[in-house]
Amino acid sequence: MSFAQGGCLCGKLRYDVACPPSKITMCHCKFCQKATGGAYMIQPVFNVDDFAVTAGVPKVYTHISEGSGQEVRVHFCDTCGTKIFLTFQRFEGAVGIFGGTLDDPNAINITTDNAKHIFLSDGQKDSFIPPHINAFAAHVVQSDGTPVAPLVLDQPERIADLKLGPT
Ligand SMILES: [Zn+2]
Ligand SMILES: [Zn+2]
Repeated sequence: MSFAQGGCLCGKLRYDVACPPSKITMCHCKFCQKATGGAYMIQPVFNVDDFAVTAGVPKVYTHISEGSGQEVRVHFCDTCGTKIFLTFQRFEGAVGIFGGTLDDPNAINITTDNAKHIFLSDGQKDSFIPPHINAFAAHVVQSDGTPVAPLVLDQPERIADLKLGPT
């Protein structure tokens, strides 16, 4: 039994996930804004062993990350153009899906424990950040591996109204 299914607009590409995501990243970076055409990407992340394409063969666009210089691979439908999932040179064991491609995105529960907002410094000024969830100006750890203290709000706030620390 799979936990959830999803697919592209035209239905040629279909996928299955076997379990809930290990984490959910809401990313406001420019890559995610361009890739989704939205304000940020809701990205449930799965172990590659818990994800399977069940119909069709995705086309792949390989993007070189400006930050890390490493490959981010965008898997999409070459008929309807829907982007289905990402894979990463930095994290070969992980698959990050475009959350809106799930047949039922509400099958996934976003909680304080499993989810975070990142790259608020690149976010759109009118995006709201919910309370009681870890939020970060950029990455969760600095390039030397030092963890960054999260910003945790008491009430929803616009990105324009946040006091962001150094990225
Ligand atoms: Zn399609
Ligand atoms: Zn991003």
